[in-house]
Amino acid sequence: MPHHFNNYVAGRWVPAASGRSVENRNPANTDDVVGVFPASGAEDLNEAVAAARAAYERWRKVPAPVRALKVQRAGELLRERKEEISRQMTREMGKVIAETRGDTQEGIDTAFYMAGEGRRLFGVTTPVELPDKFGMAFRRPVGVAGLITPWNFPMAIPTWKVFPALVAGNAVVIKPATYTPATVCELGLILEEAGVPPGVFNVVCGPGSTVGEAMLEHPGVDVISFTGSSEVGRHINEVAGKKLKRVSLELGGKNAQIVLADADLELALEGVLWGAFGTTGQRCTATSRLILEEKIHDKFVKKLLDSAAALKLGDGLDESVQVGPLVSATQRETVHSYVEVGKEEGAELALGGEFYEEGECKKGYFYRPTVFLGVKPTMRIAREEIFGPVLSVFKVRDADEAIEVLNDSSYGLSSSIYTRDVNLAFRAVEDLEAGITYVNGPTIGAEVHLPFGGVKDTGNGHREGSFTVFDVFTEWKTVYVDYSGKLQRAQLDVEE
Ligand code: NAP
Ligand code: MG
Repeated sequence: MPHHFNNYVAGRWVPAASGRSVENRNPANTDDVVGVFPASGAEDLNEAVAAARAAYERWRKVPAPVRALKVQRAGELLRERKEEISRQMTREMGKVIAETRGDTQEGIDTAFYMAGEGRRLFGVTTPVELPDKFGMAFRRPVGVAGLITPWNFPMAIPTWKVFPALVAGNAVVIKPATYTPATVCELGLILEEAGVPPGVFNVVCGPGSTVGEAMLEHPGVDVISFTGSSEVGRHINEVAGKKLKRVSLELGGKNAQIVLADADLELALEGVLWGAFGTTGQRCTATSRLILEEKIHDKFVKKLLDSAAALKLGDGLDESVQVGPLVSATQRETVHSYVEVGKEEGAELALGGEFYEEGECKKGYFYRPTVFLGVKPTMRIAREEIFGPVLSVFKVRDADEAIEVLNDSSYGLSSSIYTRDVNLAFRAVEDLEAGITYVNGPTIGAEVHLPFGGVKDTGNGHREGSFTVFDVFTEWKTVYVDYSGKLQRAQLDVEE
């Protein structure tokens, strides 16, 4: 019997108002039903927003350090259930168990970091221009936060948003990705047990086209935080922007790793294998472009092809497996269609480029690690986000051309350079157009207490993670206290 999950609204676990539900299957083995979930619609979303609005009025009055204790408790429960949650997450979206443990760990780290923020949430005090007068500014909650999340980090991304939103005093309605609602339902169970009051946190499972759209339009939602594709992000910005909601967007990437001739090549090889094929290439920060200085190009490519060909594919619950399936049949078709495009564009397919259907893997959506050589910056495989295990390799003359090729992208999330030359490394840090740059590390591996996000089409200027996330989930209130006992006029009564 598959496990039946419900929505979490006003502190109760309830089915969709329509009574309809959908089944989710394991992408590594489609015989395995992970769960049955409510197929919710606008009606369910409206209920959740009403619950959140009512709960917000009480929650915002709870002192921030007390709100933060609930988040700390949630972190402790996540730690206790880490293994069970991670195993379910691997069944839900396919990535290998070591990575789903990392995904859950990111939630735990965020909980403990944000628990501390409950005693900081710093504002400012500053001298003012008139005597016997005091000036300060502090952060207030925005109200009801509507969160829309993708499937590739089923716990990490929801917790990045939920924990700071709650510590800051907002009530939350989250719509998880259709492929990964189970993990967010687990988070709901944990927040319930941690003592977050009914209505403060709500989960509505269902499609972006109904539940998501209703959230964008709803006048009771004050801020939308979205992580997903640039295409959907642009639409969200238009619809919610028209309603003058605050919108935070974390979108796609086309991240590149540069390897210069003086680099530690073994280290750079390990980096690109992890960056390009970890999570089967389905990370917003995945390395999908590799830029090699010509002097080491042939030598590096040879090692890369040998190592990528040796990666073990299979069910991510097997600890020895290195690459899991793609999340869905559709995602695999998309990846494969890009491989066809690459071939037509004249890139050299040097590895992979086909479904992987050995043994038990034929029951899932596996795709062979794929490498294209001789890629040119104008090709579509060089410009568009593929979101699969496909790496495009470029050959460049020197560091200048490497930086130019890396920057020739409409995206700007993560970037990486391998070199032993400290001068070149710092120049790259200065010149690479990306929200994140790694020196001698792959494009993936963000830590929760530093800002996360990108430039260009990767977002709209917000940074989640760290303390900068509070610029999404709080509003500034400025306060002047005049204790002079008389009317003092700013700009007019100032003595020079
Ligand atoms: P997606 O198709 O954009 O979906 C993301 C979320 O938006 C899902 O919950 C989806 O619901 C929902 N949605 C879809 N259409 C909507 C609409 N019209 N209105 C409101 N919500 C809507 O992205 P994805 O395929 O899940 O994830 C992959 C993408 O996310 C990649 O582009 C990747 O780069 C990006 N990503 C970015 C970051 C980052 O931090 N920059 C991190 C991870 C992933 P359904 O599931 O029901 O479709
Ligand atoms: Mg999608």
